[in-house]
Amino acid sequence: WAGTQYEWSNKVKEILQDVFKIRTFRPKQLSAINSTLSGQHAIVVMPTGAGKSLCYQLPALVKPGLTLVISPLVSLMEDQVRSLTKKNIPAKLMTSTSSKEETSIALNILKDKNAPVQLLYVTPERLAKSKRFMSNLQKCYADGRLQRIAIDEVHCCSQWGHDFRPDYKYLGILSNMFPNVPILGLTATATAHVLSDVQKILNIPGCLVIKSTFNRPNLYYKILEKPSSQDNCLTILEKLLKYRYKGESGIIYTHSIKDSEDIADGLRKRGLKVGCYHANMEAASRSNVHTKWHDKYYQAIVATVAFGMGIDKPDVRFVIHHTISKSMENYYQESGRAGRDGLRAECVTLYRMQDIFKVSTMVFSSIGSLEHLYGMIKYCLNGTLCRRQLIAVHFDEDWGNTDCNKMCDVCSNPNNNTKEINLETHCKTLASIIDNAEKIDTKLTAQKLLDAWFLKGSVSLRHKGKEPNFSRSIGEDVIAYLLIENYLVEDFHYTAYSTISYIKKGPNMDLIEDKDFVLCMPVRKYS
Ligand code: ADP
Repeated sequence: WAGTQYEWSNKVKEILQDVFKIRTFRPKQLSAINSTLSGQHAIVVMPTGAGKSLCYQLPALVKPGLTLVISPLVSLMEDQVRSLTKKNIPAKLMTSTSSKEETSIALNILKDKNAPVQLLYVTPERLAKSKRFMSNLQKCYADGRLQRIAIDEVHCCSQWGHDFRPDYKYLGILSNMFPNVPILGLTATATAHVLSDVQKILNIPGCLVIKSTFNRPNLYYKILEKPSSQDNCLTILEKLLKYRYKGESGIIYTHSIKDSEDIADGLRKRGLKVGCYHANMEAASRSNVHTKWHDKYYQAIVATVAFGMGIDKPDVRFVIHHTISKSMENYYQESGRAGRDGLRAECVTLYRMQDIFKVSTMVFSSIGSLEHLYGMIKYCLNGTLCRRQLIAVHFDEDWGNTDCNKMCDVCSNPNNNTKEINLETHCKTLASIIDNAEKIDTKLTAQKLLDAWFLKGSVSLRHKGKEPNFSRSIGEDVIAYLLIENYLVEDFHYTAYSTISYIKKGPNMDLIEDKDFVLCMPVRKYS
């Protein structure tokens, strides 16, 4: 698609340079633009920040007519409309928060044959719920003005995606209602399962899928063992900021608002200049923190994932996760804010077993979420495979012989030790601890199970055998491994204020028979 000369090729080049002031395309952008200009349905899969918007914004200017952009994020739409308007590209939006006047302008654009607007942004909710919008859109189509339908974050159609939105299901009617209007779906979620589900829901089976690589060669990936005390965590962060990342800018992602405030406070007390950012702050203070970070007054922003949109700082040199993300998709997106300038940057995750349960109790009620979280844990537990290869495999990318160039902790440390652990023996021990706990009516957390296994904690929970001949940290990894492989399962209980998860035997525990069932656990040397 990128190598062919089309009747619009010269115009595309002109618009790129004159309107968007961009000299060259990034990988796959031209393929996406040519395919949609040829009238094909297509789904574009590119990592966040790779430049998906250009794939529908530029084609909107090639021929007269209207491009309808369906997007779930109001603030992102507002940003885009603002930036298009600055470029003198007529664009408008209609969301659930639009005033009556804005709504009526948007509706008129669809009806008015002479409307100058080239891009109209709408939320799926508005599309699904406004009959008037749909009837006006039909008029726009009947007039031959509906040129293209772009659906941003198109994975939201699928409940297997990490961000399912019920109103996206409604979009399935578009391909029947508007035959010959090319649909262009855009997403950073690339798993084959989600993509085929999206095609089914949108009624565009077998459509073209244009995918760019997820490999970010300039990002160094690393896992650090997270200490149990907050103070020791602060010491790690302090050292990183004072020495390794001295004079550089970055982000520290935390699990909760409270964590972000506590960690920012703790780091300030240790003499570091950091800002704090979360959704409970006033818009003005958030913007103030963002600016101070942008201008290098703050070395780092300690933030919840609310800090994400609108970050256009190219020289973010580090992204530290104080707690694991809720999925690999989220992790890729959050860590991917590092090194946009193409220079080396580091993505560090502090991992410990307890955090699994902190996150799992938060996400377990949404469909497929535990599976997504367990994907993240696999990434953390891994100590033998190249981390960027794991990321590539997760995004269904063919890794082949791509070289990591020692840009992850596994590849840069070839002397990684591993310890062989006979799962059969240990699973039997763990199963007996769980059976006994049930008998004496005690609910087991992972921590209690670990204690009992290592002959610590409550005497009544301990087993009769020997203490394992490896460290507790390996023990934690084994329990996490058993959890993601369904030997153990989480059992969620609601309380008045929160959810707690306990540990039970999982279905695979019954399959343990093979005497050679040996697990190779990495003995991590954290530095
Ligand atoms: P995505 O939607 O994939 O997350 P965006 O469309 O928001 O990414 O683009 C991210 C940034 O990259 C924007 O600032 C955009 O202007 C810029 N950009 C897009 N394409 C190019 C290009 N070919 N060359 C330089 N910058 C680009």
